[in-house]
Amino acid sequence: MNKNNLTRRQFIAAASAASLAAAASRKVPAYGNISRKASKLAILGGEPIRRNKSWPRWPYWDENVIDSIVKTTKSRIWCRIQSKSGTVPTFEKKFAKLMGTKFCVATGSGTQALHTCVEALGIDAGDEVITSPYTDPGTIASILSARALPVLADLDRQSYQLDPDDVERRITENTKAIMPVHMMGQPCHMQKIMAIANKHNLKVIEDACQAHLAVYQGKKLGTIGHLGCFSFQASKTIACGEGGAIIGNDEELMDKCYTVHNHGTSRRGRTEVAGPKYRMNEFEAAVLLGQLPGFEERFARRNENAAYLTFRLRDIPGIFPQKLYEGTTSGSYYIYAMTYRKEYFNDADRSKFLKALRAEGISLSPYIGQGLHKEPWTEHILNSKVYQKMFSRKRLQRYREENRCPNCDKVCQEMAMIWASGPLLGTKEDMDDVVNAIVKVYENRNKLA
Ligand SMILES: *Cc1c(COP(=O)(O)O)cnc(C)c1O
Repeated sequence: MNKNNLTRRQFIAAASAASLAAAASRKVPAYGNISRKASKLAILGGEPIRRNKSWPRWPYWDENVIDSIVKTTKSRIWCRIQSKSGTVPTFEKKFAKLMGTKFCVATGSGTQALHTCVEALGIDAGDEVITSPYTDPGTIASILSARALPVLADLDRQSYQLDPDDVERRITENTKAIMPVHMMGQPCHMQKIMAIANKHNLKVIEDACQAHLAVYQGKKLGTIGHLGCFSFQASKTIACGEGGAIIGNDEELMDKCYTVHNHGTSRRGRTEVAGPKYRMNEFEAAVLLGQLPGFEERFARRNENAAYLTFRLRDIPGIFPQKLYEGTTSGSYYIYAMTYRKEYFNDADRSKFLKALRAEGISLSPYIGQGLHKEPWTEHILNSKVYQKMFSRKRLQRYREENRCPNCDKVCQEMAMIWASGPLLGTKEDMDDVVNAIVKVYENRNKLA
């Protein structure tokens, strides 16, 4: 850790400010910590807030990672079934321990992890799984691969997470599971989601693909539902290019996950079910093992920086940091997200706001252009043989009619983010650059139009 770290007291103050972001009362903030000579917008020829400075790069690597890859290369153990002490079984043990679960099965991607869970829970053609339209396509791909129906529920506009009440409204007699997605790496409203699942006897597969190590009500994300899934794709906060993992405490169910992901072949060597081949390879696990030292430190650093950003951003009119639910102790901060409300910025569109920021040397960006409910896959499946056979005409008609998520549409237009795996490892000064650039654009909002 370096001298730019927040003091412990500042951190606690900022962290509790973050937890209270939802309830933030907004008053006109006192500015003045921005140098006056930089007060003209860079987009209009003024001096940018930030130049000639770089952000921490991602994915992360160091000599540990290199050594680990070399060791695996020379060992000639390149596939997990060659040895019980290879990198994949070793990573599974370490990851399970880190997450506080009994079992872990590593896979070739987060999408593969999710699909494995869907199959292991016996979710089949004709079944329905409720999830979010505001997510990586891998989330719904995992449901579609089982030829089950992804039913998309709308969002909480401030948290970008599934709205539990809308989830409950969309339950039908075919619903078998809920797949909550912890967007940006911060927790969904799991208390309500688990209560709904228990009431209707549904399984919960947590899509924690962005949410490594995040804690909600004393529990790590991925350990609250029946099964939890992670991604180690190159952009994620622990990364090996492509990779994934399932965690859980139910031995029988986790054993089934192993069988499914191993082309249907169990640990006992019998080919028992229909399953794809989704094994993680030893080089992927070698990268992950090399990256584990320092993983928790980087997580803590992102949380410190996120708390500091929220602490400063929350008083800027028109900027609303991602709402965190009560019980959120920490987030993964795969993404640091905020809502931009143009009515506070002289009605300047988000694109103008982002362009002005870019000129200041700060790159915020939109994330998902439009929700998955608006992508063409819905017509593709509604016209497919298996869906027409397994669902009644009436159900498919209703699906088409109800496939609307107006809050998600708003979020797609309003959200601005810092893709945080790398940048949130920066210094406090880096974070100040972000805030100062936004303050500067706000102060010059009359010149944006
Ligand atoms: C990355 C991601 C996935 C898919 O993981 P892959 O490893 O890319 O297959 C699924 N859900 C969410 C929320 C993700 O961010």
